[in-house]
Amino acid sequence: MAGIYIHIPFCKKRCIYCDFYSTTQGNQKGEYIKSLCKELYIRKDYLQNEPIHTIYIGGGTPSQLTLAELQEIFHTIFHHFTIGENAEITMEANPDDLTEDYLTALRTLPINRISMGVQTFNDRKLELLNRRHTAKQAYDAVQRCNEAGFQNISIDLIYGLPNETLNDWDKDLQIALSLPIKHLSAYHLTYEKGTTLWELWEKHKVEEIDENLSIALYEKLIRRTKEAGFEHYEISNFCQHGYHSRHNCSYWEGIPYLGCGASAHSYNGHSRQWNIASLSLYIKGIQDGNLNYEKEDLSLETQYNEYIMTSLRTSKGFSPSYISSHFGDFFYDYALRMAKPHLKGGLLEYNGEHIKLSHQGVFISDGIMSDFMYIED
Ligand code: SF4
Repeated sequence: MAGIYIHIPFCKKRCIYCDFYSTTQGNQKGEYIKSLCKELYIRKDYLQNEPIHTIYIGGGTPSQLTLAELQEIFHTIFHHFTIGENAEITMEANPDDLTEDYLTALRTLPINRISMGVQTFNDRKLELLNRRHTAKQAYDAVQRCNEAGFQNISIDLIYGLPNETLNDWDKDLQIALSLPIKHLSAYHLTYEKGTTLWELWEKHKVEEIDENLSIALYEKLIRRTKEAGFEHYEISNFCQHGYHSRHNCSYWEGIPYLGCGASAHSYNGHSRQWNIASLSLYIKGIQDGNLNYEKEDLSLETQYNEYIMTSLRTSKGFSPSYISSHFGDFFYDYALRMAKPHLKGGLLEYNGEHIKLSHQGVFISDGIMSDFMYIED
């Protein structure tokens, strides 16, 4: 079992909080797609013929691609890889790209899941974030996706926006949960260095919200999604039964994946590698037959740390017996030693097979996870 991630680094304009690799220079799109397909061919053995059970077209804004460009990508993938019968095939999309015609075109492709960046249903906040759609466009786009026959729709929301109140967030959640979605990802706004948001914050033009309000917003998120029948299966992810993101779960479960395109990451169980985050250098590397990337061989210590960090984010938690069989007795003892005070304090729970965050633990997950990290002296 394995996955494929395709990075489409084109955006019509940049959102102020975003630190993903993307560019507004769309003139190299054709050259990029050619390079991407060539990379898929060059690296077709990376996953050692494992059947592909998830494909994720992310970005950037994949919905900036034409039908012909998407066809070329899918044709290349299906030609060089074995795709599982019920593979989850997701495409990220911007609401205002999802016209009726575009959706009809997307239905001719193998895509069976749409992940839409909505962020908020508040027009003033959308404007602040420099998003290029309105609340109504996002609302209508979800309905249109559903009418076009996409059953599996996910939306992303951001909370903790400057000046946000509990009431604002509640409205966002009520609108989101009234829509025909199967999955919701909700992330707290973060201020990343190098973004416009960071600059505004440095100039005191926007302010981070108070920590107590952050906690209240997260509590509201958990309560509202639960009332709507959603499962809270990862710290920031909620879904209707059976509709978890299989692609993201694969990352958290350490399943190998091939990432193609500028800045895309790949993982094969022993090492991680990432392509250069530059459109022109990526294209040049492929043209010269010399893929531009960096690689890290993963030590046992790094693998243990990554396993803890990802599994503790999920509602299942981590398995001490998995730690014992994959990383040995030393890390097994270490993890149990670190878990002990949190189990006693009620921040972790143990069901005999897995150790997971308790309801209180979820609110201070970063601190708990950092206690488990092993750093050699
Ligand atoms: S559309 Fe997405 S990838 Fe592009 S700038 Fe906005 S958040 Fe970043």
